[in-house]
Amino acid sequence: MTSAESDPSDSSPVATEKIVSLCARRGFIFPSSEIYGGINGFWDYGPLGVELKNNLKAAWWQRMVRERGDVEGIDSSIVAHPRTWEASGHVEHFSDPMVDCRACKKRFRADQLEGIEGCSSREGTSEHDFTEPVGFNLMLQTKIGASEESASVAYLRPETCQSIFTDFKRVREAARQKVPFGIAQIGKAFRNEITPRNFTFRSREFEQAEMEFFVHPSDRDRWFDIWREERMAFHREIGLQESQTRFREHAATELAHYAGRAVDVEFLFPFGWQEIEGIHDRGDWDLSRHSEFSGKDLSMTDEDGERYTPMVVETSMGVDRTALAILVAAYCEEVLEGGESRTVMRFAPKLAPVKVAVLPLSKKLKEPAHAIAKDLRRSFNCFYDDSGNIGRRYRRQDEIGTPFCVTYDFDSQEDGKVTVRDRDTMQQERIPIDGLARTLRERLEGEA
Ligand code: ATP
Repeated sequence: MTSAESDPSDSSPVATEKIVSLCARRGFIFPSSEIYGGINGFWDYGPLGVELKNNLKAAWWQRMVRERGDVEGIDSSIVAHPRTWEASGHVEHFSDPMVDCRACKKRFRADQLEGIEGCSSREGTSEHDFTEPVGFNLMLQTKIGASEESASVAYLRPETCQSIFTDFKRVREAARQKVPFGIAQIGKAFRNEITPRNFTFRSREFEQAEMEFFVHPSDRDRWFDIWREERMAFHREIGLQESQTRFREHAATELAHYAGRAVDVEFLFPFGWQEIEGIHDRGDWDLSRHSEFSGKDLSMTDEDGERYTPMVVETSMGVDRTALAILVAAYCEEVLEGGESRTVMRFAPKLAPVKVAVLPLSKKLKEPAHAIAKDLRRSFNCFYDDSGNIGRRYRRQDEIGTPFCVTYDFDSQEDGKVTVRDRDTMQQERIPIDGLARTLRERLEGEA
């Protein structure tokens, strides 16, 4: 067995720096406003990053909304009525404990002091001189209104789910849904994190893919268990392996004041096991609070004619954190027979930013190769490259995880076939140009 065939799950964990460097070099993810030195906690996704993230969101939407009759999708505004955040408890409770160092003036999360760098401003010691912890509200504020005097404070949403609760009645009636059913959305969320870190893992602007499932109180535990398993099945589908993912059940002392149960899906990042998704039993907290604060009754009547407020099981996935997990899981460095090495991103084909690369063997074959690329582009994200030697071009595609390279050579003109190279096995096969898109689609779906 060549090392190219080895199981990627038994390779040692990749260092974060390697992922950060590949992401910048190949245009997956890089600092926002980079030419000004960046802005802490904000990231831009480049041409490959946006494809990867869109593919992840599409896979989530497909599985959570399209393939189910009991989940509806929405796309709500980022700024909601400020009362929303009073009702949800965010104005009062959404804070992290913060300490400042009196000497170096740096600011830290009081519950995340392990492993931080020492103080650079004190003589004879590297220990910080911390203030007492104070609660720091993480919501980002903005002002709405034309003039400074009349403008009112509003918040950039710290989570996408609150509009699902405020839209609950409208969506249920419009979509003619009955409990149990869910409402899902994907969108931006903002948190003024005290210490953004670990690349995109803790950002100040990020995306969430959230689904709130409304159930009768008697059905709450059953649905919690169903969603817990379903969400792990999704993480398997996108290529996160058993050895890299685990559940972590929250202890009673960790639970949010409204939560019945909470389980995190954790991924083994180079910086340790960390949460990529939370599955929460939120009880009837949200609907009850919005009923109370809005004066609109959000309760329902069950089959026995009893009034009840639906309970909520939430699945809340961080899109950026999961995209980072996918990058870490896919990264693989291999030494090939003959001593040559390659970096290969083993993305699940459905997530790969580029599905096929068309590479003419010589620039003289540009025209027919272009025609093939043009045809394939109608079906997939397809890349065309005619510069440099073919080996180097294959390596460039391996490094961005392109599942198939199609090489057009001088024989192609004679036999109407191209060479298709598989990213993982590196095996090459002659395939007819006629029907190429269909053959590739079958293989991509077969390997998905
Ligand atoms: P943490 O404890 O790591 O701050 P959390 O428990 O506050 O996360 P939730 O409020 O449950 O997170 O949010 C749901 C999901 O949103 C998380 O599982 C995570 O994937 C994502 N998320 C939350 N905060 C951030 C952030 N600052 N940057 C990127 N993703 C985030």
